[in-house]
Amino acid sequence: MRSHAKVVVIGGGVVGASVLYHLTKAGWKDVLLIERAELTSGSTWHAAGGMHTVNGDPNVAKLQQYTINLYKEIETISGQSCGVHITGGIMLAGTRERVDWLKMAKARGRYLGMELEVISVDEAAKLFPLMDKKHFKGAMYDPIEGHVDPYGVTHAYAKSAQIGGAEIVRQTRVTELKSRPDGTWDVITERGNVHAEHVVNAAGLWAREVGRMVGIELPVLAMEHQYLITGDMPELAGKPEQLHCIDFEGEIYIRQERGGMLMGTYERAGVPWSEIRTPWDFGQDLLPNDLERIAPSLEVGFEHFPSLGGAGVKKVVNGPFTFAPDGNPLIGPVKGLRNYWVACGVMAGFSQGGGVGLSLAHWMVDGDPGADVWAMDVARYGDWATLAYTNAKVRENYSRRFRIRFPNEELPAARPLRTTPIYEKLQTEHAVFGDYCGFEHALWFAPSAAEAADRVSFRRSNAHEHVGAECRAVEQGVGLLEISNYGKFEIRGPGAAAWLSRMMANRVPNVGRIALTPMLNERGKLIGDFTVCRVSDDHFFLIGTYAAEVFYLRWFERHLPPTGVSVRPCAVEYVGLSVAGPHSRALLQSLVRSDLATPAFPFMSFRRMDVGMVPAYVGRISFTGELGYELWVTTDYQRALYDLLTKAGREYGLKCFGGRALHSLRVEKSFGTWAREYRPIYGPLEAGLGRFVDFRKDEFIGRTAALDEKANGGKLRLVTFHVDAADADALGDEPIWHDGKVVGWVTSGAYGFRAESSIALGYVPVKLASAESGFEIEIIGERRKATRRSTAPVDAPGARMRS
Ligand SMILES: Cc1cc2nc3c(=O)[nH]c(=O)nc-3n(C[C@H](O)[C@H](O)[C@H](O)COP(=O)(O)OP(=O)(O)OC[C@H]3O[C@@H](n4cnc5c(N)ncnc54)[C@H](O)[C@@H]3O)c2cc1C
Repeated sequence: MRSHAKVVVIGGGVVGASVLYHLTKAGWKDVLLIERAELTSGSTWHAAGGMHTVNGDPNVAKLQQYTINLYKEIETISGQSCGVHITGGIMLAGTRERVDWLKMAKARGRYLGMELEVISVDEAAKLFPLMDKKHFKGAMYDPIEGHVDPYGVTHAYAKSAQIGGAEIVRQTRVTELKSRPDGTWDVITERGNVHAEHVVNAAGLWAREVGRMVGIELPVLAMEHQYLITGDMPELAGKPEQLHCIDFEGEIYIRQERGGMLMGTYERAGVPWSEIRTPWDFGQDLLPNDLERIAPSLEVGFEHFPSLGGAGVKKVVNGPFTFAPDGNPLIGPVKGLRNYWVACGVMAGFSQGGGVGLSLAHWMVDGDPGADVWAMDVARYGDWATLAYTNAKVRENYSRRFRIRFPNEELPAARPLRTTPIYEKLQTEHAVFGDYCGFEHALWFAPSAAEAADRVSFRRSNAHEHVGAECRAVEQGVGLLEISNYGKFEIRGPGAAAWLSRMMANRVPNVGRIALTPMLNERGKLIGDFTVCRVSDDHFFLIGTYAAEVFYLRWFERHLPPTGVSVRPCAVEYVGLSVAGPHSRALLQSLVRSDLATPAFPFMSFRRMDVGMVPAYVGRISFTGELGYELWVTTDYQRALYDLLTKAGREYGLKCFGGRALHSLRVEKSFGTWAREYRPIYGPLEAGLGRFVDFRKDEFIGRTAALDEKANGGKLRLVTFHVDAADADALGDEPIWHDGKVVGWVTSGAYGFRAESSIALGYVPVKLASAESGFEIEIIGERRKATRRSTAPVDAPGARMRS
């Protein structure tokens, strides 16, 4: 084994082999893969090899399409067959809700170029005669589904990488990783050491162990997974290969395996495997079968597909594979570690392995993944995703793999975990809570305890009228919202202003002022949006999205100078309350000595004030479009502040409002938010943030690319629509049609109670951004007329928030 390599990839499963291949393809030839046993010795060897393009996140779906299309390429380079069977696939729906879900999945597929088709039960039965029609209400057909040979795919990647210059060492375990001061690594193995510039943890079932070698606890857990293969079935003899089939009600997947059928299930009573640590001596082993556990699914399966029941069971496979809490992969560089990369938690290696390898290789070689990989970024989890949290969430996710997650459905596992001091007080107001990064936050307030629950639906739900009442309170009186679950950072030091000026696209505010600013990467794309508040010359308070805290910190740490600036995350230390509405000033004025009148404390002001006895940062800012204030206090003061505001608020008719009302209010104002309107595939001009980019500054990250965007106008535009909706509003990811063609996609939608209309935000090509008519938005399978607004539907000039 060589003693030096630019990259050492640890793990020769399908993911490690794909990373290795993509590194060579991207031009890095001095790359070495070290495998503990033989290639495929983790989850890979016993996988069922199924592959499909449908994914809840459109960006992941694109990478799945890429993976499936890649197999021809690696077969050609390597001469190794991947055993690709593109049979097409069918998804069977047994309920009306599932049919709605299929219509929505098909609609999303439209702008991804996927040729999905929602079909009748009769049509489905023609395509998949093994099904008993009486159990189903509809189906969807996907021509690009099928299965591959896991061994063939992994070896095809590996051989292609070797042809590209990579080396693979087998039967060698990496036992330790030691970092050097220059950020490089000593990779200690059973058979000698390698000095590497970068290491990639692609250790699959052992990803946690390889994480622990560098002191991190990766949020992954393996679950046992079983499938069975039936005996040969006369029904299949002499026929073309059967389609890949998913039966949502049975929670099973089925495909042909030679003369019989392979049937697997994600059972509700799923069992984790090796919850704390993975044994090193686990090899190409299988786990003992437990058909009892999957019996309920099998019974449904044999009922829904009767001929399988008579075919007998030839073989049962029970093997472990890993999941992150949300079921998506974990990829990217790890905050706090130089040149340590992960590519793990990949639960669908044969749909996703190619996309994971491509993105990671680009990230390593070019400094950027080259695609929007937010849904897979390891930085979406913070320290709160502990081993036990991961355990609870992975079990839940596994057991729900084939169940519908409704847009207003909050899942119960690992809750409540993180609460603020006013949690019980909000409970007594009948708050219905949601979970955000483990934090409980109020979504809406019910009139009574008995009504404080969501009835899940794709359509307007039981919460609708109560959310409406909250919005009207903010419009006409004053509302109180807890805003604790934002990311917050304190930036201090003599170099803080200059550093922020370089990091952010907008100007740095003066002392006592607030500036909204996008943060761009070198390609001029959005990687964050912040509220920057200046406390003093060398002290700033930044507010952004909490889910992206680790993502931001990773970026900040990459760009921090050795001295002169410090960045401190303080999301948990500072909690917040916001008052919004025309009476918010009078309410707050009754509690503070400072003059809050506009001349003394205009819009976008920020100051330290005592609210009663509570020391607070007060910002005059508005995400609702109404006059409003955000109050930030340390956690110990939050109850007192809440009591003060609610007591004084009685005189003004103060009403609590929650995240759902805030969402409706901000959509009516055409205000975007991170991960919906703002993502790394959009430039600031495209996202309507052009006015927050200050080109008078000589330097900031992304300036050159943003100037290019300004010169050429970008490709897309974020636009706002009134939608002729019936009982369902757009949710996000619906296609936008224009003159009978799909031209864009929705990023957010809501019913706007002030505008008395359903509203959607979404991206369309620049050339259509000023088209007056001809738009439609597809909501649950129906194309609804959409009218483009040239301005925000509510108070476009922003007079109310400035008043
Ligand atoms: C029963 C079953 C059915 C499945 N069906 C499907 C399916 O139909 N479709 C699909 O897409 N996916 C399926 N999967 C999931 C699929 O197997 C995984 O997504 C995939 O194998 C993950 O690959 P990996 O490379 O990340 O991990 P692994 O396959 O676990 O590979 C990790 C490798 O790293 C090596 N390694 C670990 N630590 C070290 C070390 N310290 N030093 C050196 N080497 C090390 C291991 O020996 C191993 O070879 C199934 C899984 C199971 C168990």
